[in-house]
Amino acid sequence: MPREREFGCYIHIPFCKKICSYCDFCKVFYEEGLVDEYLDELDREIKNSYNGEVIDTLYIGGGTPSALTKNQLGYLFSIIEQNLNLKKDIEYTVECNFDSVDKDKLDLMKKHGVNRISFGLESINNENLEKLDRLTDKKKAKEIVAYCKKIGLKNINLDLMYAIPGETIEVLKKDLKFVKELDPTHISTYSLIIEEHTRLSINKTHYIDENLDREMYDTIINTFKDYDHYEISNFAKKKNYRSKHNLKYWNNKEYYAYGLGSAGYEGKVRYQHTKSINKYLDGDYMMENGIEILSDKEKIEYEVLLNLRTKDGIDLREFEKKYKSRLDNHYNYKKLIDENLLIEEDRHVFIPENLWYISNSVIVRLLEEEVNGE
Ligand code: SF4
Repeated sequence: MPREREFGCYIHIPFCKKICSYCDFCKVFYEEGLVDEYLDELDREIKNSYNGEVIDTLYIGGGTPSALTKNQLGYLFSIIEQNLNLKKDIEYTVECNFDSVDKDKLDLMKKHGVNRISFGLESINNENLEKLDRLTDKKKAKEIVAYCKKIGLKNINLDLMYAIPGETIEVLKKDLKFVKELDPTHISTYSLIIEEHTRLSINKTHYIDENLDREMYDTIINTFKDYDHYEISNFAKKKNYRSKHNLKYWNNKEYYAYGLGSAGYEGKVRYQHTKSINKYLDGDYMMENGIEILSDKEKIEYEVLLNLRTKDGIDLREFEKKYKSRLDNHYNYKKLIDENLLIEEDRHVFIPENLWYISNSVIVRLLEEEVNGE
């Protein structure tokens, strides 16, 4: 019997009660009535486009999903349960912010099968938080994490941001100490990017010195050396706590996406939803020119550049099974092995950890080594 196709699924909840200075994500100010309308439309979108595949990872991200009221969250969970075919041992994540989540909302999540919570902590340093225009109350963060563990929501990710203007190694070390004390199962780290049109960019904020950024990255790696550093910026307490949903992205697997601004991948198609809430509420879900039909060559290019973000890199057996062709028919990767930029071991090709900081340039080098490249 053929195996059922398993898909990931991402659902975007774009509402935030406060807008952070660096934010380039798709978000709108929270308004209760607008959220209700949005959830109705989300329900219609899922009903119209979901084909019934088994969903083995579900990720509700934002925005700030925990900004929804308890009733709105309940409605969201009922939309999911009525429409989607969820696998029994699904990885089911909800993104939360410490300032908007509470024990009742966590109880509700647990009741509806959520088994992984991803918290945007970012920093506990007041100056950092002021620059980011974020709120994080240390005491509440500790209480909420303890409560999650108490009710069995043990799989917890913390997002941490670094390279914030004015930040020093000492400040970062205090953030890292706090993260370690909370003892999460997973940590995602982000070096601050100053995106166009954000408040940071409008205020002409400058990046920190590149050497300091590098030193911070190394400090993070050292601090979490007892974790599994399985992707450039991600750490899991044990291998089974790796984010299965994010691995879908890095392993170039298929995933549905629903909701404003979200991006999905099905078959040969990568698609991007509109970022206009009015268009979305009118049922016009996709971004103009937001549908990309991939050629085989493009699929392979995505495969290579996404896989190489991870410790496991490109699995040559998987590659051959998927593309009925060997990797060296497409890229002369052995040349990069000779240059010590890539390693081949146990039929996996990967970038060594000491080069992850410059992984983008290694990937660009590999793409230049395209066989018969046009
Ligand atoms: S909470 Fe997240 S999505 Fe909302 S403004 Fe801040 S960074 Fe952006």
